[in-house]
Amino acid sequence: MYGDHPGSAKLKNVSEFDDLIAANRSFADDFQLGGFDGVAHAGVAIVTCMDSRIDPLNMVGLKAGDAKIFRNPGGRITQAALEALVLGVHLLNVNRILVIPHTRCAMTSKSQEELRNEIGASAGVDASWQAFHVVNDQLAALAEDIRAVTAHPLIPDSVKVGGFIYDVDTGLLDQKF
Ligand SMILES: [Zn+2]
Repeated sequence: MYGDHPGSAKLKNVSEFDDLIAANRSFADDFQLGGFDGVAHAGVAIVTCMDSRIDPLNMVGLKAGDAKIFRNPGGRITQAALEALVLGVHLLNVNRILVIPHTRCAMTSKSQEELRNEIGASAGVDASWQAFHVVNDQLAALAEDIRAVTAHPLIPDSVKVGGFIYDVDTGLLDQKF
């Protein structure tokens, strides 16, 4: 059905998802969250990196249903992150926000030019047009991100905002702001 679609090359190998779909069937066998609402039951929102070493719910003792999670490269407060936080605060019970970049993050260790070169080589096509929001000074970026949240006109002072660095080698959070 996707034969003429320009993205068909990315869609053709549906069977490559079989292991995940099988796991999903097992997951659904024991599913407890049916009919559950979508609010953050612990009142928590977490903005963190997409890094696979980060388990955002478990690392603060939460479980599905407790928190809103927003992830991107570097765990940055982007416009999309602010949009998510405003929705979370006003419609989804969020009253505490944790912004959590982490140690040994790829976004802190390479320049945009290096990433463009590496990804261009991997893709086999020019990547110089793609923005990669690298972080030169992680603490300064975190300070700026915390300010962006606390200064947002739609995020009231009653919402507590914390900035933390997650250590991917110890599992510990270190509060900076
Ligand atoms: Zn990262």
